[in-house]
Amino acid sequence: MIGHRDQATSKLLEKISPRLKPVFGTKQDVLLIAGSGTAGLEAAVTNCVQPGDEVLVAVSGAFGERFAEICEAYRITTHRIKTIWGKSVDPDEIKDFLQRNNQIKAVFFTHCETSTGVLNPIQALSQIVRSYSDALIIVDGVSSIGATEMNMDDWGIDLLVTGSQKAFMLPPGLTMVAASERAWEIIQNNTSPKFYFDFRMYHKQLANNTTPFTPVISLIFGLEQVLTLLEKEGLQQVYHRHQLMKTMTRAAFQALDIPLLTDDVHASPTVTAVRPTDFSANTLRQVVKKEFGLILAGGQQQLKDKIFRIGHMGYCYPADVLQYVAIIELGMKRIGKSIPYGQGVRAAQEVYVTQTKLAQ
Ligand SMILES: *Cc1c(COP(=O)(O)O)cnc(C)c1O
Repeated sequence: MIGHRDQATSKLLEKISPRLKPVFGTKQDVLLIAGSGTAGLEAAVTNCVQPGDEVLVAVSGAFGERFAEICEAYRITTHRIKTIWGKSVDPDEIKDFLQRNNQIKAVFFTHCETSTGVLNPIQALSQIVRSYSDALIIVDGVSSIGATEMNMDDWGIDLLVTGSQKAFMLPPGLTMVAASERAWEIIQNNTSPKFYFDFRMYHKQLANNTTPFTPVISLIFGLEQVLTLLEKEGLQQVYHRHQLMKTMTRAAFQALDIPLLTDDVHASPTVTAVRPTDFSANTLRQVVKKEFGLILAGGQQQLKDKIFRIGHMGYCYPADVLQYVAIIELGMKRIGKSIPYGQGVRAAQEVYVTQTKLAQ
């Protein structure tokens, strides 16, 4: 480590700051705060709204629900618009609600709902809120930023939060937050109790290339390397690679006739949820973990035991997709689900060949 008040740390922060902005699609500063993604979500609540305010939370899964629970913990009057798990938030429902409720101070969205593998149409949702309300638009981008297109400024997002351990490919423990000018005005005057998570302090100190409290130096070293990787590959190519991995993965399960939880239109490029009907998702998970060390996530809450989820974000490449599809095919055989070997792999190969050109 280097001293957290050393010149070297300031130099590191100075170098990183401008390079983070394109990943968020913003000209605003990106604050670095030690804490997991949920710390960023909680800070979004305590900095942007205050007790007594009314907010709307679009809940399309476990992480949307978490946003609502945080608001309630701070005695904020919380309205939920819930979608069936596996479906995306419908902009028309948001519009109807906002037309009937003009006192809403903030609307909370989850960009990629990691619990279901849905990518909510954040640009359309944001435009609807802007057209029908003055509410701040607050977005959880924990499992999307760095892997999917994000134009925070152009799309009118007021507060965008992400974390280190998903698409940012780092160990857990760093949350990153950017706020619009509109949001900064609200944040400046917000009287909600807070100390460690007071964005104003982070913003002020960032101007001097430092942080109000000890920065999480080890992860910030890593962050510099991650930005180098993203820049070398090019953000557009990074986004394209994730789309490709999504399409390869989905094609594989479609070819094997195993249902996916989400439809093609709102499927996330970072995580795919598979909902088998004639074998146990959890038994499959156990088998592939034991035999091959392949870790598939399970379902959360109401989808517990019903789905398995494949994370294909960050350090993940088409070669990994071919490998995990082949392993999952073997795992299914092991647990007695009869499938023709290679059918999923072949579909993924076909997607790969048709969607890429031979590298020079
Ligand atoms: C993982 C995740 C979080 C929570 O982050 P922690 O780092 O576990 O606190 C929040 N939102 C989404 C969408 C996530 O995927």
